[in-house]
Amino acid sequence: MNHEERPVSPELTQPDQEIELTLRPKTLKEYIGQEKVKENLAVYIEAARGRGEALDHALLYGPPGLGKTTLAGIIANELCVNFRVTSGPAIEKPGDLAALLTNLNEGDVLFIDEIHRLSRAVEEVLYPALEDNVLDIIIGKGPSARSIRLDLPHFTLVGATTRAGQLSAPLRDRFGIILRLELYKPEELGQIVRRSAGILGIAIDQDGPLELASRSRGTPRIANRLLKRTRDFAQVTGDGAITCQSAQTALCSMEIDELGLDLIDRRLLQIMIEQYGGGPVGLETLAAAVGEEAVTIEDVYEPYLMQIGYLGRTPRGRVATPAAYAHLGLTMRSEQLTMGNEQLTI
Ligand code: ADP
Repeated sequence: MNHEERPVSPELTQPDQEIELTLRPKTLKEYIGQEKVKENLAVYIEAARGRGEALDHALLYGPPGLGKTTLAGIIANELCVNFRVTSGPAIEKPGDLAALLTNLNEGDVLFIDEIHRLSRAVEEVLYPALEDNVLDIIIGKGPSARSIRLDLPHFTLVGATTRAGQLSAPLRDRFGIILRLELYKPEELGQIVRRSAGILGIAIDQDGPLELASRSRGTPRIANRLLKRTRDFAQVTGDGAITCQSAQTALCSMEIDELGLDLIDRRLLQIMIEQYGGGPVGLETLAAAVGEEAVTIEDVYEPYLMQIGYLGRTPRGRVATPAAYAHLGLTMRSEQLTMGNEQLTI
């Protein structure tokens, strides 16, 4: 199974797209969790509106499915301006960016997802636009080429990335606002599930949301997806209503355990333990053993396994923690205990 086909993949899949549009909160008030981020943003937005200026450029970072795109849309909505959406890989040439920038209106929000994937050449065009609201275009080629400067409206760039560390320093420095989104707590995800069930008209009892939430790896996108899949099970095997019991049965059929780990997570931990003595094992070696790319391991699997304390990073590679052994019902040798705990960052 490709990691994007897993019910617990945090990445956006084709079937998610339509439903996400209906489920996206439109205001800061509707946006559940991320309290500190919301509190600060509310101040920045109010201040910018009060001064009648465009909001400072903002960078949102954190693992996939946590609500970066949603938050960018909310920023535009709260500022009562247009919301233009694009992504790093979609802007292939400087000319693509120039076309986007020259079509903006005063105050608009331009959202660039996966901003760490912008090419150098495109970034060069972006800098003067962010700093001085101008666009430098070269016309013609060779000795007769000349540069002209166009004024742009004041706009707000909202960039989103799963990997802030990959952003070039000059680009990062041009964001006045940098906000980090955290994995959600089960109670917050429970509220998100309840809200989504309400919008989609899905019957769910008192305990159902928390049962789904606690298996959603801290990620709203996964919580919403599990809600839909569980509805299918409840409809076919029960009376259509989601209860704690029917949620457990559905998740068990999808081989998702009580912590939200699926077969691939368990295999990853098992390989670390059985083939590499619990680690440390280098990222590339681990990726090859699991049959995934290193970036997928880093972006998709690790954040949650680290958050629940099952996997740690050491300078010499990844290690499985005693909790991971216990979860898989495996015993840890005493020398592994000392080695694994040394310089562990979870
Ligand atoms: P990202 O851009 O970080 O990958 P999205 O903004 O696309 O994530 O969010 C995925 C889905 O999760 C959205 O469609 C939305 O329905 C839901 N979601 C995300 N954050 C929240 C939140 N704080 N409250 C309610 N729903 C949320």
